[in-house]
Amino acid sequence: MASIQIQNLHVEVNGNEILKGFNLTMKQGEIHALMGPNGTGKSTLSYAIMGHPRYKVTGGDILLDGESILDLSTDQRANRGLFLAFQYPVSISGVTLANFLRVAVNSKLKASDPDSKGMSLVAFRKAMKAKMDFLGMDYSFAGRYLNEGFSGGEKKRAEILQLAMLEPKFGILDETDSGLDIDAVRVVSEGVNSLVGDNLGVLVITHYQRMLNFLKPDFVHIMYQGRIVETGQAELALKLEESGYDWIREVYGESGNGNG
Ligand code: ADP
Ligand code: MG
Repeated sequence: MASIQIQNLHVEVNGNEILKGFNLTMKQGEIHALMGPNGTGKSTLSYAIMGHPRYKVTGGDILLDGESILDLSTDQRANRGLFLAFQYPVSISGVTLANFLRVAVNSKLKASDPDSKGMSLVAFRKAMKAKMDFLGMDYSFAGRYLNEGFSGGEKKRAEILQLAMLEPKFGILDETDSGLDIDAVRVVSEGVNSLVGDNLGVLVITHYQRMLNFLKPDFVHIMYQGRIVETGQAELALKLEESGYDWIREVYGESGNGNG
């Protein structure tokens, strides 16, 4: 079973240390929710896992199945089974969601087998229809131009469909969009719940406690000032719902008594 281990990760952005000893281990088949107040480094973590050049790893390691991925390009990381599409490609007029997904699926097939001709149009359409049926999505959605006039919920739907088609080992969904409405939150949560089987692990990054009303995470982590400070299950999210992040600041804040 595949695993991803983030070990004592330190990451700098523009010379500022943002991640300060971040640790997390995930296995396929697990849903992890990563929560925390704004500015704690949740998105920085996603960028660092993706290999964005602006986010410099200055210490620690990221291991996929025991092997460091730090020297790999973003493409190579994707080809090893990491799904990191939390950002949307610029919408190109005339490129439908279906076109886009077919290119993505075929380039992944070619990466694992240089002789692969990719999926035929017919085979692809059939596979996509099956996934869309499974996810309860209207097939006409695939004919829409990518991201052109997509609502928050539709963008999330496209993201979940991408996750379903690419079948990565691990998906990282960074809910950076503060404009996510309840529909989008539900789309992500239900999509993740239904896709996670034995072969997919998902890290859902969110600062919405209400996300946990739909998502069924195996673990809930609270991140604060560049590292995980608490790990629990759903009860941790309930505690956040009742008390917010103030207790975290008190315990782990600079002037608090926390051990860091
Ligand atoms: P979160 O996703 O938890 O809200 P971020 O990872 O976006 O937190 O940001 C953490 C800190 O890193 C913030 O202080 C933010 O200003 C800084 N930061 C993140 N990305 C950049 C960037 N590209 N340039 C400058 N500062 C950044
Ligand atoms: Mg963020």
